[in-house]
Amino acid sequence: SIFYINGNLVPAEQAVVPALDRGFLFGDGVYEVIAVIDGLLLEFERHAARLARSLAEVGIRNPLPRDALLERCRELVRRNGLREGSVYVQVTRGADNKRDFAFPADVEPTVMMYTSEKSLRVNPLAESGVRVASVPDMRWQRRDIKSVSLIAQVLAKQAAQASGAFEAMMVDADGVVTEGASSSVLLVDGQGRIVVRPLSREILPGCTRAAVLALAGRRGVAVEERKFTLDECRQASELVLTSALHFVLPVIELDGRPVGTGRPGQVCRELRQLYMEYALATAL
Ligand code: PLP
Repeated sequence: SIFYINGNLVPAEQAVVPALDRGFLFGDGVYEVIAVIDGLLLEFERHAARLARSLAEVGIRNPLPRDALLERCRELVRRNGLREGSVYVQVTRGADNKRDFAFPADVEPTVMMYTSEKSLRVNPLAESGVRVASVPDMRWQRRDIKSVSLIAQVLAKQAAQASGAFEAMMVDADGVVTEGASSSVLLVDGQGRIVVRPLSREILPGCTRAAVLALAGRRGVAVEERKFTLDECRQASELVLTSALHFVLPVIELDGRPVGTGRPGQVCRELRQLYMEYALATAL
């Protein structure tokens, strides 16, 4: 497949960056993952806005403002003949000739993009539901930035998958849930209300989560923004994961114990349906 590197479309074998790129040395960069269906980009505006915000927060010049990002994504999707899957976009602070922690004076950001094929509309996990395992959230204090420094999430996901779970549900020192290793977590309580952790520096503002909450609100479903504990998750009627590539997934098991009925819940099913319709209708 074709990659995009710093203004050039190149075959995968030639998609290389210098060894002293700061993304490689320090994890000094940010990224986005955008779903593609029928060759169109889902939730593009939210991803473009979040990329711009992440870059601003870490002081990297934005080499891909909205229109440029859209054009580049579309070009790559077209060149790779991608119908369904994703576009990955990464921007690092760039490559320097020294390993200085502080920003080098005139470094140019490194832009890297590629596409992957993946079946998104049809996802067996949406039917079966997924298992999650709780793990301590060991990340830094700016989790709102979509940073490529992902070692804590790598270790969390590995621990979860080693125990047979699909996703790690990260929990802070007080037993309060933050989010999944690569997903947002929604709880559905006994009254059918959706409970989500308020946005702050402690979690990533999920694009899918934002869309799902807006859709739920319009449907008259009560949405309560407050912190919730691992203990509350064990008593929840439903637990739901949201992410750009999995959309909306039902959780059927938490740490080896069934969640709710132990089968995918009705609220989750409706939210997935609503989200898919909306995402396809607004795709670019
Ligand atoms: N939380 C974290 C830590 C993530 O890495 C992700 C996505 O990968 C999400 C939440 C879900 O965000 P989005 O819906 O924008 O994909």
